[in-house]
Amino acid sequence: MGSNAIKDISERMVKAGRELHNQGLVRGTSGNISARIPGTDTFLIKPSGARMECLKADELVLVDLQGNRIRGESNVSMETPIHSAIYRTRKDVQAVVHTHAPTATAFGIAKTEILPLQIEVFMLLPNGVPFVPFEPPGSEALALAVQKKIEDYDALILENHGIVTVGSTIEAACNLNEMVEEAAKIQFLAMTLAGKDAMNLAKLKEKFKT
Ligand SMILES: [Zn+2]
Repeated sequence: MGSNAIKDISERMVKAGRELHNQGLVRGTSGNISARIPGTDTFLIKPSGARMECLKADELVLVDLQGNRIRGESNVSMETPIHSAIYRTRKDVQAVVHTHAPTATAFGIAKTEILPLQIEVFMLLPNGVPFVPFEPPGSEALALAVQKKIEDYDALILENHGIVTVGSTIEAACNLNEMVEEAAKIQFLAMTLAGKDAMNLAKLKEKFKT
């Protein structure tokens, strides 16, 4: 396994970083991205303090599933405990993306779950996007809270912080991040038109059950 897999994944992470920035999901040095090296208990993660749109393949840090640095010069992203906890819990997950997507983050401030109001969102996230109660960024407590919820969901809102999405590829995890932000924007408009009470997960499940 080796260096070819690491090279391929590094290049895809660099590309994904630029996309996440271009979509407005990250600003400044916020957000982080990681990807498992297939068939190993290691993953690559963005270094601490790096801007997502300026990532370089050779500065990504290789860590084990406890978050210990194996290769790389830089310090690991401060949210590495979230990423390692997810990889330990979900063997199917190959990539994790954390952003401060503005609209979805606002839902986490308002303590409002994002619901699968559109059929395309429902197909990917049939139970919507719940929020994880606030814990300090970078803490083990936050990693533990995420670990508990991620067993049942592919996307989570971190209260007063941001969102986390996972996927079977780097691209899938990024797409889901983008989709959650879009769903939040649409839900905000729908709530403005129809009121919060019109949004009901049980009714959506009944409607989409075909
Ligand atoms: Zn964050």
